[in-house]
Amino acid sequence: MHPERFESWLNVGTHGLYCRPGGFHIDPHSAVNRAVITHAHSDHARAGHDHVLATRETLALMKARLGSAAKLGTQALGYGETLQVGDVTVRLVPAGHVLGSAQVVIEWRGRRAVISGDYKRSADPTNPPFELVPCDLFVTEATFALPVFSHGDAKGEVAKLLKSLKQFPERAHVVGVYGLGKCQRLIALLREAGYAEPIYLHGALAACCQIYESFGVELGALKPATGAKREELKGAVVLAPPSAIADRWSRRFADPVPAVCSGWMRVRARARQSGAELPLIVSDHADWPELCQTLKDVGAPKVWVTHGREEALVHMARSLGIDAEALHLAGREEEGT
Ligand SMILES: [Zn+2]
Ligand SMILES: [Zn+2]
Repeated sequence: MHPERFESWLNVGTHGLYCRPGGFHIDPHSAVNRAVITHAHSDHARAGHDHVLATRETLALMKARLGSAAKLGTQALGYGETLQVGDVTVRLVPAGHVLGSAQVVIEWRGRRAVISGDYKRSADPTNPPFELVPCDLFVTEATFALPVFSHGDAKGEVAKLLKSLKQFPERAHVVGVYGLGKCQRLIALLREAGYAEPIYLHGALAACCQIYESFGVELGALKPATGAKREELKGAVVLAPPSAIADRWSRRFADPVPAVCSGWMRVRARARQSGAELPLIVSDHADWPELCQTLKDVGAPKVWVTHGREEALVHMARSLGIDAEALHLAGREEEGT
């Protein structure tokens, strides 16, 4: 192993990205002995690891979603704290993606690698902002790595929802949101915009909201949608998993306005497919300008691109003189876009 040659001490094995001198995997896609987990989305946080190191928030979310975060033991590491693991030091810094999300900063023999996990740089009232860490190797996500993806201002999208509520005061606005991250961010953005009415939740969304609240994120009055009277839901905001928008679950509402809140709503065909009458472009992932800016900001001479549109970002990085390549990791079906 040589510190200059990252491939010799950080490599992709059968379970995913592995740090040899540290003896751990980062976001492995199958069960391993030691895992460092960037955040609790299911494409990063799998069940069945023996030992898991993550932020306290991620461990709580993993426990709620998977039953337990690890079989034998968990260790919480706060943002900014440094821990010796094997021969390397590990530090977790905010990724700005969802509650508890962290970039993993690994240092070995004077070289620093940063594994971003999923990240975004736009404002999110529910978790601390992405922290820029200059490094020698940057491993970046690429979910929205095409120039067409520019998410715009989330506040403007929330204003569209509020305008529609005014325009159609008799109709429930049923908004499809991912349960971890998008749901709580949309609620917080609505509250910031002055919306003080109770917000109704599909049962699948309640547990993550409770965890956010237990970590001090204020979401205001939330009520279960199930059991609420039709009359009560007129003109209300109802949040549900995106899959519930087009299915039987939505039929309980009289003449609802179906909406979906996702970065994919930028693509017309995807918006149509989702059944959304009101597509709202809000994403918890970096858009194309943010991805490109981040490559410049971290200043890493070497970049590995994981899950998503690898080719476009690799091409972009190379045009900046960066030694970039796609890291083909299995098992990445993006969640929480
Ligand atoms: Zn994610
Ligand atoms: Zn992901």
